[in-house]
Amino acid sequence: MIRRWILGLILALCSASTLSAQELTGLSRLLDVELRTSMSGRVTLSIEMDRAVPYAVDLVSGPDRVRVRFRAASFDAVDVTQLADGKTVTDVVTGASGRTETWLDLILAQPMGVVSAELTGQSGSSRIEIVLAGISAQEFAAYALLEQGGAAPGGAVDLSGPKRNTGDRPWIVALDPGHGGVDPGADGGRKSEADLMLLFAFELRDALRRAGYEVVMTRDADDFVGLEGRLSVARAQQADVFLSLHADAVLEGVAEGVTLYTLSDSASVQADAKLAARHDRHDILGGVDFTGQGDQVAEVLMDLVRRETRPRSDALARAILDGMNSVSARINSKPIRKGDFAVLRAADIPSVLVELGFLSSARDLAQLNDPAGRARLVDGLVAGLDLWVVQDAADAALIRQ
Ligand SMILES: [Zn+2]
Repeated sequence: MIRRWILGLILALCSASTLSAQELTGLSRLLDVELRTSMSGRVTLSIEMDRAVPYAVDLVSGPDRVRVRFRAASFDAVDVTQLADGKTVTDVVTGASGRTETWLDLILAQPMGVVSAELTGQSGSSRIEIVLAGISAQEFAAYALLEQGGAAPGGAVDLSGPKRNTGDRPWIVALDPGHGGVDPGADGGRKSEADLMLLFAFELRDALRRAGYEVVMTRDADDFVGLEGRLSVARAQQADVFLSLHADAVLEGVAEGVTLYTLSDSASVQADAKLAARHDRHDILGGVDFTGQGDQVAEVLMDLVRRETRPRSDALARAILDGMNSVSARINSKPIRKGDFAVLRAADIPSVLVELGFLSSARDLAQLNDPAGRARLVDGLVAGLDLWVVQDAADAALIRQ
């Protein structure tokens, strides 16, 4: 019987198909709240919001309460204390956990379990309906979280997104030497782009290790690795940051110097939809388990995570540019750009594609073939990462507070 209760594991389920991932994201405001009791004694908590966000419902004891968590919602526009009817709910308490989660507690007059929770909506507004019914004190205790440190059976849904490095552990850098195997990349004469990037990645790996970083490589031989395979390696090794290394050639015009790409915004939206449609959802996004969730929920969650990751990737590109400038590397005239590169599509790992130069440029080609030229670029990248990790760790520590 108790198995029918949906306890602590309800993630934003969007039954309305009219919502896009774009419309479902960002900080939401509660517009109206209502508590209704049916003839059968079931209680429906109805929450109107200006937009949908991921949410979860938990039972918490001490005192017994139903907690609705949002990532994230503001309670400023509505008087939530009107939910305290004295009969079912004796008091209402709101709070926040960090900067990404807010919660609404209904202190219960008697133990209740969650029968169902559903989010419906149309563009511009949404409604969460949570149906509660009386259960025994023993049932409540069996499924409730403790106020401090307890965990629900099966674990509470973590709305906070992936865990970020606050500087309390070594940074794990994924190096992705472009191309390989049947795909040699650009033609560099004596060496292909694939060979040059593998050589450069080994040198960068050694320098990063000397500087205290941990390094994983998406390939360490002249092998073909698919684009998603490269991301899988980075995720499996819990990389904090992803650097794809290239030195492509342009057929027309002149391109020279270091150029840094982050994923374009439109490509991000497409990436969310594409990745959400895949089956191995655990592979998409560390820290959030999509198993059993619909595509739309996966897209919403990914878009939220990507919103946090995108400025981190942009900051990484700027830091690498600063690092390259600090060693007087040859820099492209428009060094920071956006592009639709599949290898940059990890929603949760800050990712930059580094064009170390262009093999179609004689000077860039000579630099990459010269150990001293490569050493300068290695120094620039390490300097850039050193700059970035300090700021990113500080930001992560702030968010965690
Ligand atoms: Zn390339």
